[in-house]
Amino acid sequence: MFDLLEHDHVQELHVCHQADCQLNAFIAIHSTRLGPALGGCRFMPYRHAGAALRDAIRLARGMSYKAALAGVPQGGGKSVILRPEGHFDGARLFREFGRFIDALGGRYITAIDAGTTAREMDWIAEETTHVTSTSDAGNPSAYTALGVYKGILAAVEHRFGLADLAGLRVLVQGLGNVGMRLAQYLHQAGAKLLVCDIDTTRVHQARSCFGAQVVHPDRLFEETCDIFAPCGLGGVINHRHLPEMSCAIVAGSANNQLEDADCGRWLHDEGILYAPDYVINAGGLIYASLTHSGSGISDIEFRVHQLGETLRSIFQLSEEGGLPTSEVSDALAEEKLCEATRKAA
Ligand code: NAD
Repeated sequence: MFDLLEHDHVQELHVCHQADCQLNAFIAIHSTRLGPALGGCRFMPYRHAGAALRDAIRLARGMSYKAALAGVPQGGGKSVILRPEGHFDGARLFREFGRFIDALGGRYITAIDAGTTAREMDWIAEETTHVTSTSDAGNPSAYTALGVYKGILAAVEHRFGLADLAGLRVLVQGLGNVGMRLAQYLHQAGAKLLVCDIDTTRVHQARSCFGAQVVHPDRLFEETCDIFAPCGLGGVINHRHLPEMSCAIVAGSANNQLEDADCGRWLHDEGILYAPDYVINAGGLIYASLTHSGSGISDIEFRVHQLGETLRSIFQLSEEGGLPTSEVSDALAEEKLCEATRKAA
């Protein structure tokens, strides 16, 4: 376990266990150098506690980098609750989890993530104020989708020298909160949509609303497209599938898209432009952070639009230095964190 913390430079790890409400959870705080750690709460079945722990640690670092490059005053953290098997009392479990968060005194602020919605955040909010994305605060996914759309425009301009998406083939994997909204933006912009989801209701919806071509999840990499937009779960860019990839750009909302750092280098070497996940998907974090601190929508929208500019400079630096975009963005984020440490010293 300490090796994992060391590998991702995670500052704190909290274990939450309350047997009578079946609560088993981890809260990983990567850094609070730029402000209180803000990051979503995952609620999923895990094969074992080690897999949940690994998820929390790995995702926490991404949140620090995301906040650093999005320019919001937050550190990076993530919580993962192992979904109990069989019947459980959700209200009790999440209220208990809220008490654990409260005991951290504001060093960690939670939000929705895979498996949680505003309902769970409302239960947490009964016990602590260190929570965003409650039903009063609104859903950040719309801003994540807007940021991904702006990022795709920046990638298309850099890779193809085009100012719009008309006629480009975009494959969206995952039509959930973010993916469906992204599909709508892409459709309105004149892209030719291909969609893939394990949930057949969602693919049928995308087919009827946007005239999208449906791709079976087992045949994902058989389709040629200009842009692949992963909006499902992480690890989709992996060593098994890399040789099958046939696109010019990878740009989507999923967290931890790359199985490891070598995958980022492989994409670069193959001439596939990768929009680093934690940069392009920062719209939701910007929304959560700025609503929590009381900012207005125009400020939030301005910051989300700026994500396209951040990506343009990453693409440029990558081209000039002959480095993968994933390495350029990691270096920029680390530099911001070091700068904050120097200022604090
Ligand atoms: P969601 O749970 O609403 O949607 C995910 C979708 O992916 C679902 O429709 C699901 O059926 C589908 N899916 C899962 N596995 C799949 C597979 N193997 N093949 C095809 N489809 C599959 O999640 P979301 O809120 O839309 O988030 C999507 C991704 O973006 C996640 O990785 C999340 O961590 C990341 N993200 C989301 C936000 C946000 O604001 N919601 C912000 C930043 C990052």
